[in-house]
Amino acid sequence: MDLKELYRDVILDHNRQPRNFGALTGADAHADGHNPLCGDRLTVWVRLDGERVADIRFEGTGCAISTASASLMTEAVKGKDKATIEALYRQIHTLLTQHDAPADPSLGKLAALGGVSEFPARVKCATLCWHTLNAALERSAAAVTTE
Ligand code: ZN
Repeated sequence: MDLKELYRDVILDHNRQPRNFGALTGADAHADGHNPLCGDRLTVWVRLDGERVADIRFEGTGCAISTASASLMTEAVKGKDKATIEALYRQIHTLLTQHDAPADPSLGKLAALGGVSEFPARVKCATLCWHTLNAALERSAAAVTTE
């Protein structure tokens, strides 16, 4: 099995059986995301422990790439702090937008999204979950400062 087939299998698996799928009870914040180009819709919930994402779940309807990307993202960011998540997003963005950008080994299964760079129209499908997570984190930060 070559790398491309392996990556395709990861995407198909996470689309068929998305991880951390369904509303999160006791969430500190959530945000809704919409990608009108494809019709993908997502809601991302986060529970925070200081700067750390203690738990994250998502729900949504959309194409295989948007669902698989959100599923992979929840696995990757759970337990990480905001600065680490931001750095991870920058790596993902490079992987998605630069053709044949080498995948950093630290990306783990997220590297499977590298194939998306061959389909520029689908980049927004893969980044929707990250923008939605960002909105949820910003909202939670805003909520904390009003206390
Ligand atoms: Zn899509």
